[in-house]
Amino acid sequence: MNTIEQPDWVARSLKSVWHPCTQMQHHETVPLVPVSHGRGAWLYDAQGRRYLDAISSWWVNLFGHANQRINAALKDQLDLLEHAMLAGFTHEPVIRLSEQLAARTNNVLGHCFYASDGASAVEIALKMSFHFWRNSGQTDKREFVCLKGSYHGETIGALAVTDVQLFRDAYGPLLQQAHVVASPDARQAQDGESPADVAHRAAQQLEEMLQQRPGKIAAVIVEPLVQCAAGMAMYDPVYLSELRAICNRHQVHLIADEIAVGCGRTGSFFACEQAAIWPDFLCLSKGISGGYLPLSLVMTRDDIYQGFYDTDVRRGFLHSHSYTGNPLACRAALATLAIFDEDDVINRNKEQATKLGKALAMFASDSRVEHVRQRGMIWACDARTDDPAFSRKFFTAALQHELLLRPIGRTLYLMPPYILDDEETALLAQRTHAVFQQVIGA
Ligand SMILES: *Cc1c(COP(=O)(O)O)cnc(C)c1O
Repeated sequence: MNTIEQPDWVARSLKSVWHPCTQMQHHETVPLVPVSHGRGAWLYDAQGRRYLDAISSWWVNLFGHANQRINAALKDQLDLLEHAMLAGFTHEPVIRLSEQLAARTNNVLGHCFYASDGASAVEIALKMSFHFWRNSGQTDKREFVCLKGSYHGETIGALAVTDVQLFRDAYGPLLQQAHVVASPDARQAQDGESPADVAHRAAQQLEEMLQQRPGKIAAVIVEPLVQCAAGMAMYDPVYLSELRAICNRHQVHLIADEIAVGCGRTGSFFACEQAAIWPDFLCLSKGISGGYLPLSLVMTRDDIYQGFYDTDVRRGFLHSHSYTGNPLACRAALATLAIFDEDDVINRNKEQATKLGKALAMFASDSRVEHVRQRGMIWACDARTDDPAFSRKFFTAALQHELLLRPIGRTLYLMPPYILDDEETALLAQRTHAVFQQVIGA
């Protein structure tokens, strides 16, 4: 398959490629895996070893690597149009994608604005919210609210609404301060409290915050149902319905960042559906292209769109990227949506999720973990350990068991592609527990 020797490949990468989310020096002890190809849920390295991609390559891959249907769509598109600018031009893939996504919100969010990565979609939602209020004469509405432990991306605007201590310590001086309010994370339940009680408490705190800054807040941004990067913090949907009502009462926009939780991950196509609400802005990326190509978008309501509709250029939304609405990426997304329909994915995922949860039942009776939890195709638990190297040790040990798993702190989680068969599900569960025993016992 590939004639490049693995040691040479790794050394060359370490010399010239600056890898993300990594202290490069750790690669003196943590392996760098040279991937040569992928098939279904599996990635293969240059020496033919395989790894079950149990975190969907950072939550992007929904239907496996080298998916036949997505590949076919891309090959077809490649000979038609690889790219054309979207200012003054349009093309069928971007039109069809916008129409199909809007239809999935019953046309409540009927306007789609495109970018290439998740952080840019968040930047767009923040700018649009601010600009909408300014266009309607409310120039003081320029502050944002986010939740404790929130993650919305790492560009400077998105980082301002991201509550991760490590990033704040490093880049805080560059950022516009956002208001950080309580997370509805169900793990915070006190004696006798239900997840809904925790959600209600957090919602009340948010409302108090908004009351203190009347006329100043543009938008509240949340990750619906699961704060993934915070360590798969899951919460009751009632938080979202209360949040919707609070935002309405205070004339504040609600931005739903569904970059990680959208596209069927939590059990419905959009996570917001489980609370029967629609936000004012909905951000999508990651899974929308099936994990194939960089694509992100922000969906919004007609009244917001109308707030920009004018003869004056300055009242129009001012934002663009070179690859906005790239046709190849849109075709990958259309092929992904077609799979949802053809394979009845939302319903089938309910069975998949049940099987996954059952296969992992050994964790529920393992006293070395707590807070075993699941929402759709996200399963997580917290290891009872204070070893700061738990995640790195787990990653390394998992590779030896043919698994790609990368815990967040002491949170061990699985977020696999939706296509695992029963055998793969069983293998994943058994080996995850075996790796856990090895790492926690060490
Ligand atoms: C990954 C992620 C982002 C950022 O997306 P990028 O494509 O990495 O910039 C934003 N919000 C959430 C919830 C995410 O999971």
